[in-house]
Amino acid sequence: MAVCARLCGVGPARGCRRRGAAREQRRGGAADSEPDTDTDPEEAGGGGGAGEEDEDEERIEGGRPAPPPAEAGPAARAPLSLLELPPELLVQIFGSLPGTDLPSLARVCTTFRRILRTDTIWRRRCREEYGVCENLRKLEITGVSCRDVYAKRINPRVKSGRFMKILPDYEHMEYRDVYTCLLHRYRHILGLWQPDIGPYGGLLNVVVDGLFIIGWMYLPPHDPHVDDPMRFKPLFRIHLMERKCATVECMYGHKGPHNGHIQIVKKDEFSTKCNQTDHHRMSGGRQEEFRTWLREEWGRTLEDIFHEHMQELILMKFIYTSQYDNCLTYRRIYLPPNSPDDLIKPGLFKGTYGSHGLEIVMLSFHGKKAKGTKITGDPNIPAGQQTVEIDLAHPLQLPDIENLRDFSELSRIVLEVQEQVRREEQEEEQRQEEEDRSQQAASQPAAQPLGGEGAKGEETAAGAEGVAQDKAPASQPFVLPMGVISRNEDYPRTCRICFYGTGLIAGHGFTSPERTPGVFVLFDDDRFGFIWLELKSFSLYSRIKVSFQNAEAPSREAFDEMLKNIQSLAP
Ligand SMILES: [Zn+2]
Repeated sequence: MAVCARLCGVGPARGCRRRGAAREQRRGGAADSEPDTDTDPEEAGGGGGAGEEDEDEERIEGGRPAPPPAEAGPAARAPLSLLELPPELLVQIFGSLPGTDLPSLARVCTTFRRILRTDTIWRRRCREEYGVCENLRKLEITGVSCRDVYAKRINPRVKSGRFMKILPDYEHMEYRDVYTCLLHRYRHILGLWQPDIGPYGGLLNVVVDGLFIIGWMYLPPHDPHVDDPMRFKPLFRIHLMERKCATVECMYGHKGPHNGHIQIVKKDEFSTKCNQTDHHRMSGGRQEEFRTWLREEWGRTLEDIFHEHMQELILMKFIYTSQYDNCLTYRRIYLPPNSPDDLIKPGLFKGTYGSHGLEIVMLSFHGKKAKGTKITGDPNIPAGQQTVEIDLAHPLQLPDIENLRDFSELSRIVLEVQEQVRREEQEEEQRQEEEDRSQQAASQPAAQPLGGEGAKGEETAAGAEGVAQDKAPASQPFVLPMGVISRNEDYPRTCRICFYGTGLIAGHGFTSPERTPGVFVLFDDDRFGFIWLELKSFSLYSRIKVSFQNAEAPSREAFDEMLKNIQSLAP
């Protein structure tokens, strides 16, 4: 490892291994008996290390007094070996290295190994790499600081004293254990995920929260209140119940945390399993479970929902999703990358989907197009499919407010643009064919024509961008045409700009899917709408204002790849 080479390869440092070994001999090798393995930072600092310590005072293990002046040579010189540095300084230096480099550092010599037992090093690694800001020793006094006590609450039974062992042993816990056995071990599941629940999908954010890793499921607010904040509930949590042993608990149901299991299947995929599904059952049986689910999911009772078709859809969702309560697989998703040219900031939105209720849609920009991808879905259009596509090269000029009420007038305008788009696509195809033919005719690799094509593409993209920027500050009155149904009458009455777009519709079970013409309406930075011409209905979308952790895409390509994957996996 580079770190070792740098630390050990020069000067007297070479002697450190010998000195260490000699000391080991003297002490009969009692201190460190753990065998070295290669991968985990777990064994950095070795075992042992138990003993009383002051929480605020830095305890440094393996500190060695500086060599006497006689050893230091004729003239006073700057220290050449790291071992000659004061231990406090070594703690500082080691604490600034990535936690994954520390195991190899611990193998350099026993002094390093002992210094690496200093818990402030690991506390700093927990804080800098995973954002942990709890103080272990103070935790029991102040209570577990958390956003939602419910998620972390220790099972009430514990308090009686009979089950004291179930309480996490914070007294003897060390940051080294938190780093190695919890954070490092489960680092691959941190981030944003979509559960595989057939067409319904979902949104899960796995985060480090205090000394826990928690999987929060995010749910849209109750239909049709798109502007309300997201709801969230914990699906699982992982923490150290005792030293060196992370416990996975299922949080599903209403009986508190119970035994669960997590398996990292492959890169960007993991699954959870519940080992005690009896904790999900209610004393009132399925009836009570359904009523509770309905109240949570929809905020009402079945009798409140007069619409018969909607009742069927709701019942179907309950039956389908409750099959997944014992085992779930998650696939990684990323938030869309943004660029300064985007019409608005891309991201996640809540949208109205008629009888299906509110669904989560991801808005992303791709040159002249913007895409709305379903993160949650329904039996008609499943999660992962592209629900709307916005043609940023074709802004729509809405009629005056008096004529906007007239559906046929709006319909005429949209269909005209649809015809124009069709013509342009045909021309583009022909141009492409001609280009291909001329390329085949030319024996030379055609550098010239390609350059020309690129230039033209840039031109149109710039055109679309210009339109967006010109229209951004202006606002115009907006009202839905007569006959267009909206779940929410509370939509904005002014808009900034409209574009031609298409919306995906399909029969039950995603049968005969079809892209149909529509109008994308941008209201403000956080809200947009879509008029589905053929359905004569309107969807209102409102931005999800949650700062999800570990959700950035590593690159534009990784995001595009993810989008392609979730679409192809959609049932
Ligand atoms: Zn469970």
